[in-house]
Amino acid sequence: MPFVPSYIALHRTGELRSRAAALRAMLGSCTICPHDCGNNRLKGEIARCYSGELPVVSAYTPHFGEEPALVGTHGVGNIFFGNCNLRCVYCQNYLISQNHKLEIQNETTIGRLACMMIELQEKGCHAIGFVSPTHFVPQIVMALETAAGAGLRVPLIYNTNAYDSVQVLRLLDGIIDIYLPDLKYGDDAMGREYSKVDGYARHARNAVIEMHRQVGGVPVTGDDGLIKRGLIIRHLVLPNDIAASRETLTWIRDTLGPETTLSVMSQYFPTHRALTMPLLDRKLRESEYMKVITLVEKLGMENGWAQEFEASDYYRPEFEDRDRPFKGEADNETSDVEHTGRDGA
Ligand code: SF4
Repeated sequence: MPFVPSYIALHRTGELRSRAAALRAMLGSCTICPHDCGNNRLKGEIARCYSGELPVVSAYTPHFGEEPALVGTHGVGNIFFGNCNLRCVYCQNYLISQNHKLEIQNETTIGRLACMMIELQEKGCHAIGFVSPTHFVPQIVMALETAAGAGLRVPLIYNTNAYDSVQVLRLLDGIIDIYLPDLKYGDDAMGREYSKVDGYARHARNAVIEMHRQVGGVPVTGDDGLIKRGLIIRHLVLPNDIAASRETLTWIRDTLGPETTLSVMSQYFPTHRALTMPLLDRKLRESEYMKVITLVEKLGMENGWAQEFEASDYYRPEFEDRDRPFKGEADNETSDVEHTGRDGA
């Protein structure tokens, strides 16, 4: 039986429309993410994420750098949202995530966002990937209402920095098929220092628990061998153990179970503000990465992927070219045990 995403049923019953309305209402005093700014985005009041009523889409394209069980032969149809609710000093996508004065030019309409989803499906993409979606969840669900009516049928991936509101995630229950959070820090102090955010570990862990509640711990795979529903937790290993990898991975194992699907990433390279920060101004050392890989094995976590150590040498998004920001990826095909790139914030 072909997989049918559950948002189709929510669209038929009118529930999708109700959810979209509830989420849109939250923009009137914005509590869409844990920053809880309280600004009225419907009246153009801008706060921490520099985003108003309309979605900002910086690029949309089939992408082949995600985990192998998502990419398949035709890639994930990624929609890269501009701006962000975090301010990571090392963000690889800083040209689109921390550049709101230029990104305002990429504001689009709900109808156009719906068309992008359909276009990516028509290109054969196996899923639609919303990259850095947190601050635009209402707009995404509003567009999905239109896209589902126009024939969208592929699974939806929520590719997030994990600084998400549990209340908002509950409104995504049955809408998002695959959650792809990046658990960045095991320590709130590191989140404050390097991403300018309060309570990162607490909020992100609560968000991941809610994602796990919705889609379970063991991914559902379709007839084509690709994941159609589930949770994949990414973890980017940072130099000098700034990500507190042991705390994070141990928490995942103890809270969600050893069967949880992990995607451990080595692709860190110093960019943006990190170039002037003593603890982040160098690439990851192989010994640092292998320590984390060994820990994963010791924790008995066998499901998922680990990037090959050299990933930082070729995974460098170039958002100067919005039509083709991942030029090197054709040379970096994925294997069953490794993946080469990611898009998360
Ligand atoms: S989505 Fe933006 S405006 Fe809303 S609470 Fe988060 S940072 Fe603030």
